[in-house]
Amino acid sequence: MKAEIIAVGSELLTPDRLDTNSLFLTQELNKLGIEVSRKTIVGDNRADLRDAFAQSLERAEVVISSGGLGPTEDDITREVVADLLGRRLDLNPQVLAGIQERFRRIGRQMVEANARQAMVPEGAQVLENSRGTAPGLLLESNGRLVILLPGPPDELKALFAKQVQERLAKRAGGLRQFSRELRVTGLPESDLDQRIAPIYTKYSSVNTTILAAAGEIQIHLRAWSKDVRETEIILDEIVEQISVALAENVFSTRSTSLEEVVAEALNMNRATISTAESCTGGLLAERLTRIPGSSSYFLGGVVSYSNDLKTAWADVPAELIESRGAVSPEVATALAEGIRRRTGSTLGVGITGVAGPGGGTPEKPVGLVHIALADGGATRERGMFFPGDRERVRWSASQTALDMVRRYFLRATGKKPGPKV
Ligand code: ATP
Ligand code: MG
Repeated sequence: MKAEIIAVGSELLTPDRLDTNSLFLTQELNKLGIEVSRKTIVGDNRADLRDAFAQSLERAEVVISSGGLGPTEDDITREVVADLLGRRLDLNPQVLAGIQERFRRIGRQMVEANARQAMVPEGAQVLENSRGTAPGLLLESNGRLVILLPGPPDELKALFAKQVQERLAKRAGGLRQFSRELRVTGLPESDLDQRIAPIYTKYSSVNTTILAAAGEIQIHLRAWSKDVRETEIILDEIVEQISVALAENVFSTRSTSLEEVVAEALNMNRATISTAESCTGGLLAERLTRIPGSSSYFLGGVVSYSNDLKTAWADVPAELIESRGAVSPEVATALAEGIRRRTGSTLGVGITGVAGPGGGTPEKPVGLVHIALADGGATRERGMFFPGDRERVRWSASQTALDMVRRYFLRATGKKPGPKV
């Protein structure tokens, strides 16, 4: 079953307010097996609003709106919908009494305008609003379901849970959404798609979405079905095939973050880690300590931004910085080895680079980052060029550093590369 959401309110078309109601509604509808096929945001304008409802009703079996049920002139949702569906608006005495009672309780006089909220389209069911004055409304028309909900998020949520969920569940008839997620590092999106398209295109019942972010790609698989067993089996089969195709590039099939996966690897191997960061300004240490219990593997780190402190805190020889430059494979290596020796950790990570926007040169452009991982043996070093702004460069650098640690353990433990980390 398909649904459309219409978020009503001119403020939602300004840069100041975001439509969050539709996110909540989408989540709840998906749980019921109802797919949201389109969302519309429309201002408090009669013609636009009428258009939006008319079009949604042509496409979807369920149309849910939020907002525009209040007492003011610009709250026109109920009138527009009644008019579109050819329903008279009548004053509903029970609803009016409820609104008056609400005002009595908070010791205020009901103003005339609030009576608007007691107008109910012919044949509509009134959905009681326990948190506000405007009730929700539910109408059936030509086999379509139209549900009008108030705009304030707390009212909408409470009303949905108490009045809408069950009605929709009955109508959806047991169809549910099933999903899986794979997270991948170290592959460009086009490469990844080339490898997995032959797999996911075989399954027409499963919807595949590829979401790329800095240093990470997520593959979302979604299917709607009544058959739990069959769907779970199909989804597991696709996850398995994608995992084989992408091998060790898949770092999680459980929606875990890269830092969580690294934390697990460190704990499992009873290893500790320390960091010496320059351009990431402590971001790597921050990510490593986001996880509760991080003291079991993270010993500490330094943000050695200046050359002097690279020497003072991580024993990077001043001559090395002088001869190679602060952003160089040699200095990254010295940072990693230095901090490892200083702290006595199993692993040491060094990061140095040009986060931008200034400070780039033709030889060392903005986005160039050197990352090293020391374990007491041969130190690994990678020179990377990250596109994007300062924030993206810093994030990508921390992502690559974490990924180097993850891959280190895949190799070190000789474990079969794969997602079950
Ligand atoms: P009210 O009786 O409060 O006027 P209403 O149903 O008319 O209720 P609106 O006036 O459209 O609702 O919105 C009331 C407030 O709810 C807005 O100021 C805004 O803060 C919030 N709101 C409305 N729509 C949304 C939305 N789609 N997402 C998040 N917040 C919203
Ligand atoms: Mg309003």
